[in-house]
Amino acid sequence: MVLFGPPGVGKGTQCRRLVERFGWDVISTGEILREAVREQSPLGKAVQAKMAAGELIDDATVVGLVEARLARGGPSASFIFDGFPRTIAQAQALEALLDRLDRRIDKVITLHADDQELTRRILGRAQIESRADDTPETVANRLHTYHRDTEPLIEYYLDRGVLESVDGMRGVDEVFESICEAISRTNVIQKGHSASA
Ligand code: AMP
Repeated sequence: MVLFGPPGVGKGTQCRRLVERFGWDVISTGEILREAVREQSPLGKAVQAKMAAGELIDDATVVGLVEARLARGGPSASFIFDGFPRTIAQAQALEALLDRLDRRIDKVITLHADDQELTRRILGRAQIESRADDTPETVANRLHTYHRDTEPLIEYYLDRGVLESVDGMRGVDEVFESICEAISRTNVIQKGHSASA
């Protein structure tokens, strides 16, 4: 399944809880890229300025990372994609990759919240964690990038009949329960777990 939404909506937190409950393998492109930056690998050095500015990394690079991670999972592995795809081109590439593996996307969940609340959350977190890279300018840029490049995925996946939209403005537990309800309406392969709470 795919989980996406604007920066600050709580994707990472929800993803961790979903993995705990369902035992899926997680593919988080943001995590992979952050690790590359920490290690200062050639990839990390190439992407760090763009990441700090709140811009997207080019599609070919990100799709290559996902392809490598998918190949590491066994044929029966179930995946949750966190923060990928983020553009229509990435969504098309993912579809082609999955087709080749005879796999498909069962469910896409988009979390939504308004920009004002998202900005408040991200800047609040930046203060607590002393994350100097989250300034009002970079946050505005990340939101702008999201609306321009990623939001079109809502139409894309609605057309494919796999999308459910969940209100991310509520507490973590309530959002999680709504996501689980959406999943229970799907024929997602679960490793012996039940989607009901
Ligand atoms: P995230 O943790 O998902 O918010 O990702 C952090 C940053 O990594 C983003 O702001 C982008 O710069 C980059 N990134 C993560 N995933 C992608 C993606 N699918 N496509 C392009 N850039 C990405």
